[in-house]
Amino acid sequence: MARFTLPRDLYYGKNALENLKNLSGKRAIVVSGGSSMRKGGFLDKTEAYLKEAGMEVEVFEGIEPDPSVETVMKGAEAMAKFEPDWIIAMGGGSPIDAAKAMWIKYEYPDITFEEMCKVFGIPALRKKAHFCAISSTSGTATEVTAFSIITDYQKGIKYPIADFEITPDVAIVDPDLAETMPQKLVAHTGMDAMTHAVEAYVSTANCDYTDPLALHAIKMIQHDLVDSYNGDMAKRASMHNAQCLAGMAFSNALLGIVHSMAHKTGAAFDDHGAHIIHGAANAMYLPKVIAFNAKDETAKKRYGDIADFMGLGGETLEEKVTLLITYLRKMNDDLNIPHCIKQYGADSYPCEQGFVPEDVFLERLPEIAANALLDACTGSNPRQPSQEDMEKLLKCCYYDTEVDF
Ligand SMILES: [Zn+2]
Repeated sequence: MARFTLPRDLYYGKNALENLKNLSGKRAIVVSGGSSMRKGGFLDKTEAYLKEAGMEVEVFEGIEPDPSVETVMKGAEAMAKFEPDWIIAMGGGSPIDAAKAMWIKYEYPDITFEEMCKVFGIPALRKKAHFCAISSTSGTATEVTAFSIITDYQKGIKYPIADFEITPDVAIVDPDLAETMPQKLVAHTGMDAMTHAVEAYVSTANCDYTDPLALHAIKMIQHDLVDSYNGDMAKRASMHNAQCLAGMAFSNALLGIVHSMAHKTGAAFDDHGAHIIHGAANAMYLPKVIAFNAKDETAKKRYGDIADFMGLGGETLEEKVTLLITYLRKMNDDLNIPHCIKQYGADSYPCEQGFVPEDVFLERLPEIAANALLDACTGSNPRQPSQEDMEKLLKCCYYDTEVDF
């Protein structure tokens, strides 16, 4: 027996935000990152629509990127005081993820952060409030997923909260909000979405319900991402839907080791002045992981399906896998994303020598590989890597060398 869970309602397309008028409740708290939603006028509109719905509104603004446990606790306190029956989370992945965790703490004031992180172990929510998520970026798809990522800065670790209980009740996917994204964010979040769809399709937890979502998302991203990056707003609107479809797929089919590696390398070199941005890390590692996973016959066949669905040609499965890898690498070129960590500049653009020095990378490699193996995403990867495999794979991701093992 398996389960497939999505929000009950999804409003999409231009002016979808207006549907906030139709929510029924007494008090709504709006959780937002702040500046871009405020500047774009979306926060004001949201407040106005909720008031039109007859609700009292409070705004909890200023959620930082990679939200902390402290922010979650503060937000939950604000909720305990205001007693909302709707939580409206608005912005990129961070405010929505933070609001999901606040929601748990609001419903269960005695729950500890450790208890929240128990995978699929959250008690039933919706006793106090329902949850509406409005995304402004086109990548994480947290508006439809069962996941939230919260950072414990004291331990320096990002913790995933995973449970269908935190799948939002209502998702609003309005392309006007995505127009505010800077170009670099379009590239990174777009390749994050591509990775979600590809990993979901080959995941060991894939199923008949997730496959069509993943494949269709892949085709849309293939056709729309680069144009969206280059300023085509119709394509950007389409990407907003595509990333959401990818989210529906991976929320139910889970992910694989591209994400395990991206999670554990992201902050591993912060002391050298930068972060390897999640979407960029995925974009660099995905072609390498495809080559690694394709040694598994089932995965190879599934990558072949993807290549066929994208219309890439090729006679044999080997050819199809190679064409898929080549295509994804070309997308990275078109989006100004490097092919490997060695060439990953502090500004995320390709350069001769990136911000991660070779000796530092090699010194930290065993620990990063061990952490990646323990990541929650490793379990559903189609081929289980050993410590040695993972170290070799990460080396290929550093030097951009061929995966031949
Ligand atoms: Zn991702």
